[in-house]
Amino acid sequence: MPSLRLDTPVQYLKGIGERRADALRRLGIISAHDLLWHLPHRYIDASTVTPLARVRVGDDVACLGTVIAKGVLPTRRSLRIFHAVLRDSSGVLECSWPGQAFLDRSIEVGQTLLVAGPVRFYHGKQMAPREFVVLADPGTEYEGIAQGKVLPVYPATEGLSHKVIRTLINQHLDALVGLSSEILAPDIRRKFELPELPDALRAVHRPKSLAEAERGRRRLALDELVDLQLMLGRARHIARRGRVGIRFVIRRELTTRLKEALPWELTKDQVQALREITGDMTSSERMHRLLMGDVGTGKTVVALFAMLLAVENGYQTALMAPTELLAEQHVATLHRLLEPIGLGVVLVLGRQTAAEKATQRARLASGEAKIVVGTHALLQDAVAFQCLGLVVIDEQHRFGVDQRATLMGKGDAPDVLLLTATPIPRSLALTRYGDLDVSTLRERPPGRGAVRTVLRGATQRERVHEFVHEQCLAGRQAYVVLPVIDESEKTDLRAAATMAETLRAMWPDLTVGLVHGRLKAEERDATMQAFRTGHIQVLVATTVIEVGIDVPNASIMVIEHPERFGLAQLHQLRGRVGRGTEESQCVLLTTSAVPRRLKEFAATTDGFRIAELDLAERRQGDLLGERQSGVAEIRVARFPDDGDLLEQARALSQEILEKDPGLESKINQPLRRRAVERYPRAEVLFRVG
Ligand code: ADP
Ligand code: MG
Repeated sequence: MPSLRLDTPVQYLKGIGERRADALRRLGIISAHDLLWHLPHRYIDASTVTPLARVRVGDDVACLGTVIAKGVLPTRRSLRIFHAVLRDSSGVLECSWPGQAFLDRSIEVGQTLLVAGPVRFYHGKQMAPREFVVLADPGTEYEGIAQGKVLPVYPATEGLSHKVIRTLINQHLDALVGLSSEILAPDIRRKFELPELPDALRAVHRPKSLAEAERGRRRLALDELVDLQLMLGRARHIARRGRVGIRFVIRRELTTRLKEALPWELTKDQVQALREITGDMTSSERMHRLLMGDVGTGKTVVALFAMLLAVENGYQTALMAPTELLAEQHVATLHRLLEPIGLGVVLVLGRQTAAEKATQRARLASGEAKIVVGTHALLQDAVAFQCLGLVVIDEQHRFGVDQRATLMGKGDAPDVLLLTATPIPRSLALTRYGDLDVSTLRERPPGRGAVRTVLRGATQRERVHEFVHEQCLAGRQAYVVLPVIDESEKTDLRAAATMAETLRAMWPDLTVGLVHGRLKAEERDATMQAFRTGHIQVLVATTVIEVGIDVPNASIMVIEHPERFGLAQLHQLRGRVGRGTEESQCVLLTTSAVPRRLKEFAATTDGFRIAELDLAERRQGDLLGERQSGVAEIRVARFPDDGDLLEQARALSQEILEKDPGLESKINQPLRRRAVERYPRAEVLFRVG
């Protein structure tokens, strides 16, 4: 066998045959390096194991013992409880896992278990383990890996238990750590007070304490974020070099007239965002800014000021939205705001007739039309501008990178303002949108109806329906939302259709509509239109109504199976009501016990707070979302907890890139190699020189 290297395929490692190599591949482990970087996702603190006889009611302890009896006990309330009795040299302890009867299939008499959790009194002393690990199988001697230590628990897969993975990693750890070396220059490492990389790797796999494991993890998380920030920093550097833009001049013409004509004051956040945008637009660099704010925080108005600044400088401006409905809504808003100052807006949609399109296009090409709003239809080759100076893209994540670029390409280096109604914490924005500048709108304009969120159980369903019925008869409108999850799409769509049927039968005096993602766009738009004009009072819908629909008269939303939605998604949905002056209601109709997450959700309306809650509960892999941005590689860092690391990684990588923008010096080459390994896109970025 050749000598061990980090790129040695795992099947050549001792203890790993073809079968295990296959299973490891499912975990993304292909080389020795991958095995070393397969990190525990949690730990069990066995550094203070309590002898079973010394466990006291009220304690929260870790214990170790052999299973001497086990079984499932049904209870009166039809809750099935798994029980196991443990023994060590000092005595016995009963453990119970309510509602986890399935454990009966995996826990066996004779196994050695490590359990940790609270101890209470229930027909005697009993532990309800919060966690447990099988340390040894029946007949095998438990070798005391855990005693006096912290036990790592690894992500496992079918055919490869975390026990086996732990043994394998433990067996090869010293050799693998010996092959890895520090990657950051000594002065940087000292300045940021970081532990050495090999030490950190050892600490996460074989920690003496939880604190040590966490220190190690943070160093690895930082490295991961440094790679990302190096790539983004490089992208920014290159973009900026080529980013000579239009230098707009504040003329105080249209913008001032708009300000005077507005029926209300701008919020503090709006003023601040506008200041940032104006700063960008009047500088010689191109603006590349993201405006982030919950629905209803007033992004459109802010965008309009930017658009007018472009127009008063003799340029044209385009606002692109992901759906026809949203585009029409924007036109309506702009018309209303622009009417007093006598400016018109051109609308470009795919469904317009050829003649209509030709007229609009001619007006854009000649420069006669200054402001255009549209959908993807704006991207067509035939759409040309005389002098496009500012591009605004609403719900920017709904467009691909290419589509955004196409619209920008219709001008000569126009400024770009992106809008999103999915707020995320700043630390994360720095990463996900690393090559953009970010402005945020947090506060909502005053004077709009509040949304009250309430939780109701199955027994209150009838009362909820009565309430909806009454309100609709009194002139309000309501949404009834059902989840559609990919894997069970068919069943879910049927459930939505059934719901619509049920409500129609129950309320012959109301008109009930149905929209979901499988309907043809025209059909869906027609139904939405009927809802907007009040011809439909109750709209049964799947999450297709998430984005931007503005029906001020709709003041009730009932969400079925809210536990199946992510919190951010629930928040988006809830934003569809509370758009008029009426107080609005969002009713979460649960069928099971109410999880705490939903209670927290009901208690707050702050989108940024909800984004944080949402992040905390999502799988880390999904975290940075957008596969297209190539930023889905964050596995070790956790948000929002590691937000500070993100700032540190940014500072650190800026310092490195300032001295060596191409990472060409000898000392930085390993960094560059690692960044390129992790992000294929980095290869191009660092090649341009
Ligand atoms: P968003 O695009 O962020 O969802 P909009 O820009 O559509 O929000 O604004 C929502 C509503 O609030 C619009 O009807 C708008 O006219 C109104 N609005 C915006 N800013 C203010 C403000 N400062 N005071 C009062 N109403 C405002
Ligand atoms: Mg909007």
